[in-house]
Amino acid sequence: MRKKKFIIASLVILFFVSWKTIDFSPKPIKNIKRKKHCTIVRKISNNEILYIKLFSQLKIESFTLAPETGKYRIWANGIEVANTETFKIVKLSCVNDSIEIRAFETVIGKYKHVKIASQDSIKTFRLKLMSPDRKPRFYQDNLLVTAELGELKCVNEIVLDNYIAGVVQAESGKRSYSEFYKVQAIMARTFALSNLQKHAGEDFNLCDHTHCQVYFGKSTEADILKSVRDTKGKVVVDDDLNLIDATFHSNSGGQTANSEDVWGRKLPYLRSVKDTFSIKMPNAKWERKIAKDEWLTYLKAQHNYPIEDTVARKKALNFKQEVRIPYLEMNTIKVPLKNVRTDFQLKSTFFSIVQDGDSVIFKGRGFGHGVGMCQEGAMHMAKLGYKHTDVINFYYQKIQLIDLYKLSFFRDE
Ligand SMILES: [Zn+2]
Repeated sequence: MRKKKFIIASLVILFFVSWKTIDFSPKPIKNIKRKKHCTIVRKISNNEILYIKLFSQLKIESFTLAPETGKYRIWANGIEVANTETFKIVKLSCVNDSIEIRAFETVIGKYKHVKIASQDSIKTFRLKLMSPDRKPRFYQDNLLVTAELGELKCVNEIVLDNYIAGVVQAESGKRSYSEFYKVQAIMARTFALSNLQKHAGEDFNLCDHTHCQVYFGKSTEADILKSVRDTKGKVVVDDDLNLIDATFHSNSGGQTANSEDVWGRKLPYLRSVKDTFSIKMPNAKWERKIAKDEWLTYLKAQHNYPIEDTVARKKALNFKQEVRIPYLEMNTIKVPLKNVRTDFQLKSTFFSIVQDGDSVIFKGRGFGHGVGMCQEGAMHMAKLGYKHTDVINFYYQKIQLIDLYKLSFFRDE
């Protein structure tokens, strides 16, 4: 009898211990080691799991979730509280800093942390924000929800390449060229893996906004899914086998920029290149009219530029930029064009200025910071029949495309 009680007690303890082992928090990133401001890849697997914060620009108060493929179970505080075999759709709301889960009129309970997960190999769910009201989106793999400061924090726990396909679709849109999709897949993968710590301390790796990479959920485009599969494990590294800063912009205007002219840090692979592929693309040119007085007053007030000097004034009103330069310079005064771009919300720093009566016209080229790959140029190259490797080698210097798993050879254990 005593033996029987002991066995039952052991089973009960085992039962609770096993519930406790369900992990609700993102795993610490062990396989990336920081060294001298750069990253070294260590044993990153094909099925690396990432944690992506969803709707990162919104304060989510409630949403509904319904499975599309796969059977989902809802875990709260280590216990299964519901599953989507019994409830086809559930509503999660933030109530008094807790997550209230409802299935129709039934309140299942209130919790601090919830995990909605499936063991199936293919699993997709439909997430519809109710407050604020947004169109439904479809996500793969699992979802972690936390109630925090009066809102719900939703984090997608997702396999690397499922996420990469979603990013490629959000960043490049549909109906592009497969070689361009391959470039975007390699860039997105390189960016994701070199920025796993970008939100360190916030319990997720990356957000779904431009701060990290835009991500609206599952890719539906067969060409994108194939391009992600065809480039599986491929990343771009520099001479020291560190993942590169895979930066890109919309249009270079005919010439890309040196990294130090924009961010102050010189990187050997982010060099200015003459880029004829971008010049006939949609964002190659722009114009902006500003009152002459506003421009001159700005130069004086913000940069102490000597507008009272005739030569200096003439230069400011007839500024020429045939090739990219970082400053409007007069003697010792340097006006950083990146500041002018920000202050006047211009599309790029690659502009010339002409007078037009009481106004000045900024005649600009390109769209974005100009560093690294030009997306429109890359798309044009793909259209002309260049391979993804040609595109990457054109926009980034002294780099190599490498398989992640080969890099594990270099890990220092
Ligand atoms: Zn971010």
